[in-house]
Amino acid sequence: MPYEPVTLGFKFAIRLKQLTARDVLVVTCPACHKSYYVAPHILLERYHEHRPIESFASDFVCKRCGNRHDMSWRIDRAVGPEFPRSA
Ligand SMILES: [Zn+2]
Repeated sequence: MPYEPVTLGFKFAIRLKQLTARDVLVVTCPACHKSYYVAPHILLERYHEHRPIESFASDFVCKRCGNRHDMSWRIDRAVGPEFPRSA
């Protein structure tokens, strides 16, 4: 299943509830460049759906090198015949 980055609005304004089941939060460590793919249901276990993602981005910790500063994130969305881009 191919994924492509999506922009859902201004970064500080994107809330957890805007993520759909075909989205994944990609968190990248600036120190060791490892990327983590986090499914929305994992985030919803921990944070309220109305919280902006940027508001808890400071909680992200790299499990490989322990870095917890400036962890960057983006949202990738599954695309394909079963997920039309227009949907
Ligand atoms: Zn790291």
